[in-house]
Order: sequence, then C-alpha cells, then structure tokens
Amino acid sequence: MLQEKNYQFWFCTGSQDLYGEECLAHVAEHAKKIVEALNTSGNLPYEVVWKPTLITNELIRRTLNQANMEETCAGVITWMHTFSPAKSWILGLQEYRKPLLHLHTQFNREIPYDAIDMDFMNENQAAHGDREYGHIFSRLGMERKVVMGYWEDKDVQQKIGSWMRTAVGVIESSHVRVMRIADNMRNVAVTEGDKVEAQIQFGWEVDAYPVNEIAEAVEAVSQGDINALVEEYYTKYKILLEGRDEQEFRRHVAVQAGIELGFERFLEEKNYQAVVTHFGDLGSLRQLPGLAIQRLMEKGYGFGAEGDWKTAALVRIMKLMTAGMKEAKGTSFMEDYTYNLVQGKEGILQAHMLEVCPSIADGAIGIKVQPLTMGNREDPARLVFTAKEGAGIAASLIDLGDRFRLLINEVDCKKTEKAMPKLPVATAFWTPRPNLRTGAEAWILAGGAHHTAFSYDISAEQLGDWAAYMGIEAVYIDADTTIRQFKNELLWNSVAYRK
Ligand code: MN
Repeated sequence: MLQEKNYQFWFCTGSQDLYGEECLAHVAEHAKKIVEALNTSGNLPYEVVWKPTLITNELIRRTLNQANMEETCAGVITWMHTFSPAKSWILGLQEYRKPLLHLHTQFNREIPYDAIDMDFMNENQAAHGDREYGHIFSRLGMERKVVMGYWEDKDVQQKIGSWMRTAVGVIESSHVRVMRIADNMRNVAVTEGDKVEAQIQFGWEVDAYPVNEIAEAVEAVSQGDINALVEEYYTKYKILLEGRDEQEFRRHVAVQAGIELGFERFLEEKNYQAVVTHFGDLGSLRQLPGLAIQRLMEKGYGFGAEGDWKTAALVRIMKLMTAGMKEAKGTSFMEDYTYNLVQGKEGILQAHMLEVCPSIADGAIGIKVQPLTMGNREDPARLVFTAKEGAGIAASLIDLGDRFRLLINEVDCKKTEKAMPKLPVATAFWTPRPNLRTGAEAWILAGGAHHTAFSYDISAEQLGDWAAYMGIEAVYIDADTTIRQFKNELLWNSVAYRK
C-alpha cells in the first residue's frame, strides 16, 4: 500500500562556455565522479542521475523543464563547479516547479599548496560560482535547500539523503487523497479547516463518503477471508482475554478483521491513501474501527480520528517520507491525553481511544476487547502495546483562517515509570523539548492541536523544509525555545504570512 516509487534525482552542474573544451571536460568528469560516489555511498535513499553540464540559458531552461515533465524525477541537485553567470538561470528557474538542492561543494578537498596555480583555481571555484548562483534564488525569492560540505563526507551525503526524503514528501503531497467517512466531530475547532485551500496549498484531495457505503463493503467481505485474517492476528499477536469468553472474544476480533478488509478494498477501489473516521457517525458498522485502523496505518495509510483530515494527510506524507528506511522506528497518528506533573518525571501520556499505529510498538503486541464509553457500539478489539524509547517529532497542522501553520515539536519518548495494567490502549509517553512546561506553553500559544502526526524517523529540519516548499508557516519547539522569543516569532510570522 505504501506505494514506494523509484524516484530519481538529477545532478546538474553549472558552468559556461568561456573556459574552453578541456576545462569543461574536467567539469563533466568531476561531476560524474561525485554522482558515482553518492550512488555507491549507501547514504542516499534514491538514485542520482548525472546530466550534461549546463552552460547556456537554453540548455538550463530545457533541462529544468524536462525535470518538471519527468514523473520519476523528484528533484534536481545543482552545483556550480565553475562560474555560471546566474542571469542564465532566471528563466529556467522561474519555470522550474520541483524541489531543488543547491549542493555547495568543491571537487578538490585540500588546497594543493605546492602546486596550486591559476588553472587549478579556475577548476575549483565553487566558492565563488555557487555564490553567484545562490544570489539569483534569493533575488527570485525561491525556496531551495542549501547543503555545504565535502561530497565524500558521510554527514554531507546523509544531509542530501534526508533532503531527498523531504523532496519525495513534496512531490507525493499532490497525490494524497483523503477519504472522509464522517464529518468533523461536532463543535470541535482545531480539526476543522479549509479543504479547498488545502488542495491549493498541498495538493490534497479530501472527499466525503456516506459511512454506510463503506459499511456495505465491510458486510461484503466473505467469512473465509475474515477467518483467514483472524488466524493471522492470532498467530501474530498475544490474545489478552482478561476473563472474557474465548468464543465471544474471537467474534469481536472477527468484526475488526471484516472492517480491515472492507475498508482496505473500498479505499483501494476508490484510490484513497488516507482515511478519517468518527465515533459519533458509525452507521451500520458494529464497532468503532480500532484494530482495523491500526493495521491500515501500519500498511501506510494516513489516519485521523473524529474527522481530522489534516492529520490524516500529514500522517500519510510522513509515512511516505520515511518509506524504506533502514531501522525505522515508526510513524503514527497520536493524541495528547494525560500529564505526569511529578517534578523530574514530567511528560505527556499519548494514546487515542484505539487508533495508534503498531509501527511504533516496542516488543510484543497484544489484542484486547474492552468497552468503549464513546460511540454506542459493541466493545471494539484493539492492539495494545507501549511505544519505543528515543527522540521523535510531534507535528500539528492547523488552519488559522488566513493560512496554515505547522507546529514541529521535538520530543523524547520514554517508558512510563510503571506499567498501566488497567489501560486498554496503546500508549507512548514523551517529554517535549525543551521541557514539559515551556514545550506545552509554546504549543498552546501557537494554537497546536491535541491530535498530532508523530514519527521517530523524521527530523524537524525535514518537516520544516517540507513546509517551506509548501509555502506555509512552520514553527519549531525544541531545545532552543524560550517563550519570549517564541511569542515574538508568532507575532512576526503573523505579519510575514499575511495575505
Ligand atoms: Mn481524538
């Protein structure tokens, strides 16, 4: 379901025709070596493709337009090995529409003190060529990523690699389609938003379907398919009966198996990659989708509860940005629930009624069947676990009426001091940076939601870069945040983003 694509990134070196054939041959040779080193480094999630050196306005414009048209191309990496007069780039850049990374590097690492002459200087002048090139972006007011450093260094390659994931998030954003099978929860403000504006800004298509249409798809799932999936659950997860009758428990689990299959088929048939539900609008569904939604999230679907389509789309984007990562720790829809305010042990217990993605689970996952006070349906089956330890990002996308704002909070996930045997839901526990008090105060001042898209595998920089490409405001709450500075930032942003 995740639909990973074999995206490529074009490597375009800038120069001009004043240097002569020999110098340009060296430029091309050096660029090819860099591309090869990047591709064999193991630090890049996608392939880099060398393109002929760009030396004229016409070639620049043609190449960048080809990059626009080529579906497999998710972005362009540019580097001014020599000097490329930046007026040559204006038209091409004005027409270019994909993410762009300006790699500010140099073919040679160390100044060859004994041998250096003007020929060497002319062939290693990114220090001045890249400044000319960078200027025109600033003049045009264009978003781009600048990465400076030596191309053989691992940290530089990793920076390029993480930017590639951001670029894929940008390209894939316009392919995200969210199915609303219920409206926003009545009277709730923060999960609302302007869907037309979201499509203009992010490319997201957000459509509503009557809940009973998807309920019919659930009813249509065969008993054989349900039984097979229940068997899979029983093999994969620990069955936590907690005094319930075994047969009755299995029947409740089977309802979720039917929902998982019915939902998945309905979403696939209609080409949606994210979904929202609402406990108050379940139609003929027998249980609130719990275990079923948890499994769909693990497969790569975005999800938001109570009609929260913004978080659903954001979870989907974050799933795509982290696709195929080695040692990924997981990405999930999440909700701020309860505080621990004991000094030195402060944190926020994260959960939802049911719907937390098992990709973030640490260790064994169990199934429980428990009553739900909300929703007026059968006791739903759900997966229960606790989340991994480690740093992560909690993000909230809100609609301020005149613009979207993305809050990005760095958090540290921990184990709770004790187990919580009576709590029948999956949980995480984290302390926001810089600490609970400042983190929560800043979050509330910025208007952040109780729902978040959470990931261990994405950095604040990546998500902030994604927001910058989308042209929206992003605010960071991290180790450097102070309330005084943060309030000023919100004030300045309100002016900067005024339409
Ligand atoms: Mn909620």
